[in-house]
Amino acid sequence: LRRFYDPLDDIAQFTNAYSSAIASLEKISGLLQEKPEVAEPEKPTPLPKNPGQRGRSITFEHAEFRYSPTAPVVLPAFDLTVPAGQTVALVGPTGAGKSTLAKLVARFYDPTSGTVRLDGIDLREVSDVDLRAAAVMVTQENFLFSGSVADNIALGKPDATRAEIEAAARAVGGHEFITALPEGYDTDVRKRGGRLSAGQRQVIAFARAFLADPAVLVLDEATSSLDVPTERVVQKALESVLADRTALIIAHRLSTVLIADRVLVVDDGRIVEDGSPGALISADGRFNALHTAWRDSLV
Ligand code: ADP
Repeated sequence: LRRFYDPLDDIAQFTNAYSSAIASLEKISGLLQEKPEVAEPEKPTPLPKNPGQRGRSITFEHAEFRYSPTAPVVLPAFDLTVPAGQTVALVGPTGAGKSTLAKLVARFYDPTSGTVRLDGIDLREVSDVDLRAAAVMVTQENFLFSGSVADNIALGKPDATRAEIEAAARAVGGHEFITALPEGYDTDVRKRGGRLSAGQRQVIAFARAFLADPAVLVLDEATSSLDVPTERVVQKALESVLADRTALIIAHRLSTVLIADRVLVVDDGRIVEDGSPGALISADGRFNALHTAWRDSLV
């Protein structure tokens, strides 16, 4: 697809029509890549209404997962309960199964056996529309799409007004840098994309998530390191977007792990440590070692 829209790119400088066509193509290709082969239920069970409640609970019940019938088991009978409103940081080596857990919560895949539930409802019973509203996944790949900054934020709520878009940007502390861009909210992120820093991209993605207002946020944090002032901005944005939700974060930054209510150290598809950051630091185990290494790399 890239080969197809790269030449169009130059033309797009002259016409907005091409620009939005490219944006649509990119969104479609993003959806195709991410859109799972899971079946929508014929008679979906509505998720319970949760007025005033914080987030929704997530439950894994003996959830086993492999990517294909011949592939090795990535998660062997995984059990986990995340109460509504809890922020959970997932840490552990590459290949441990953290992204796979995240993808099961967003129902990119179904477990090969066992169950994943939101508020007690098996995800296989939840309609696509309800699920997309309830659980939003933010990854490095979907931080930004073509289009303006406003378009990128509005992906969280397609009928959003400009006032709502700006309110979301303000809530995550992005309004100031956005208005300082050449065309403010109308700045094309692809054309001027080179001028948006990694941190700014993340803040825009957080504004989108804020506007979408899901009960459950699944976040695969970027690995790229940020300078200290930017990290502070991103951190504040993250804290705003985490409030009042359940969150599962594949954390790459120590500062993120330290604001979590709970840290899960995952290795080989299993939870090897589970506790508050403070408790795990005191416990002198895997997380403690990781924390020391992380802290030392910062000084
Ligand atoms: P982590 O996020 O902790 O790095 P992953 O969940 O990405 O771990 O990967 C867990 C295991 O599943 C790894 O062995 C990885 O190679 C495998 N895996 C991940 N994604 C796929 C995929 N799309 N197809 C096949 N195997 C995969």
